[in-house]
Amino acid sequence: MKQFNPSVTKTKNYLCLISLMGLLFLSCSSPKPKDTVSTGTYYFPEGYLDEVEQVPAFWVASIEEIDTYLKTKVKKGKVETVGTSAGGRPIFSVSYGSKRTGSGTTTFSGSLGVYDIAPYRGEDSDKLVYMGLGGVHGFELEGIMGIINMIEVFETGKDLNGKKRPELASMLDSVDRIVLIPLVSPDGRARIPIRMETDKGVDSPQSFTVHEYLNTGGKKDGSIIGWPDVKEHIPMDFADFGFPGGYPNDNGVNIMHDDFFGSPQPETRMLFDIAANEKPDIIINMHTGVPKNNYFMQIHRPFAEPELQPIFEGLYRQIKTSLTEHGLQGSNDATVESIPPQEYSRYNLSTALNLHCGALSVVIESPSHGFQGTNLAGVPTAHTPEDLLDAQIIAHLESMKFLVQTGGRSKWQKDFFK
Ligand SMILES: [Zn+2]
Repeated sequence: MKQFNPSVTKTKNYLCLISLMGLLFLSCSSPKPKDTVSTGTYYFPEGYLDEVEQVPAFWVASIEEIDTYLKTKVKKGKVETVGTSAGGRPIFSVSYGSKRTGSGTTTFSGSLGVYDIAPYRGEDSDKLVYMGLGGVHGFELEGIMGIINMIEVFETGKDLNGKKRPELASMLDSVDRIVLIPLVSPDGRARIPIRMETDKGVDSPQSFTVHEYLNTGGKKDGSIIGWPDVKEHIPMDFADFGFPGGYPNDNGVNIMHDDFFGSPQPETRMLFDIAANEKPDIIINMHTGVPKNNYFMQIHRPFAEPELQPIFEGLYRQIKTSLTEHGLQGSNDATVESIPPQEYSRYNLSTALNLHCGALSVVIESPSHGFQGTNLAGVPTAHTPEDLLDAQIIAHLESMKFLVQTGGRSKWQKDFFK
């Protein structure tokens, strides 16, 4: 780990290089498709890079804004450069509290053999450690913005919209260690040169497709690659597409589906090293992407240790109940909204992190600010940026409260692991 040293200048130089490369590329490649604009090497159908006129002050979600925020606003937390992306961009963490210092006598896998995490974690195994990730997919801005606002609450008691969040602020007193990485994949974020999309609503022809193009990438004819088809290309050869989207790093790898046991990418290696070092109880990995017909925050059941599933279900009920009570789910019935899904995620980064350090590692998906959907009854949603912020804060807050109330992994194993 290195001390904080934001390299805005380096980023600008890098973007200039991209632009130059783009000119070279355009000069020797086939003409761009009709009705598109180009930025550097990439093609965007007209209007796809439209930016909202008035970006709310709390919407801090670009590389430059994050760099400036971390450099100038974080006083209580410790800002560190914890990694470097495939494209050479720095990755920052902000941490609070005292970390585990114990040294165990075995591996995590070894600890499972004796049904006790302590020999892996060491003498301070009972400490409560929370880790939050944003921007694993670089253009899923809600999670990035949420973590920056959470940091602001820890720093000042208020989010960047001026709203007091005393319950969240108090988590500094009850969670021993909090580690936050607002933007895990700066390469993906750097590829999309806008701060915030316009809201395309629920019915416009561009509703969904613009965000999907920016997020999952586009073909040379301007159509979206789309999810999950984009997962057929890891690593992605950028030359095969009009725009590679915000998923991959500059090596073309979507780290949610990295080559975990083979040659993991620098971003993944960084997460593995932090996870092994911090040994968190819970890792919350914030994404953007929910079904358009139930367009509210969703939580995936992780493909992880079977013993953690009841713990996941408890966490799920707690977050979903609070979201429902705050009007941020598809109905007002918390009993229905908090029924955990039976279906598991596929093996992905969350699985790898769980098996690497024993954390309950969970992916949470937000609606996008770029378009709207409906609830299950077909009623259109109207998520404001403030609503999206509230949902992010609630998900992190309830996860931390759950951690405090249940006592973390060393207590879970006594109550649930038989
Ligand atoms: Zn994602």
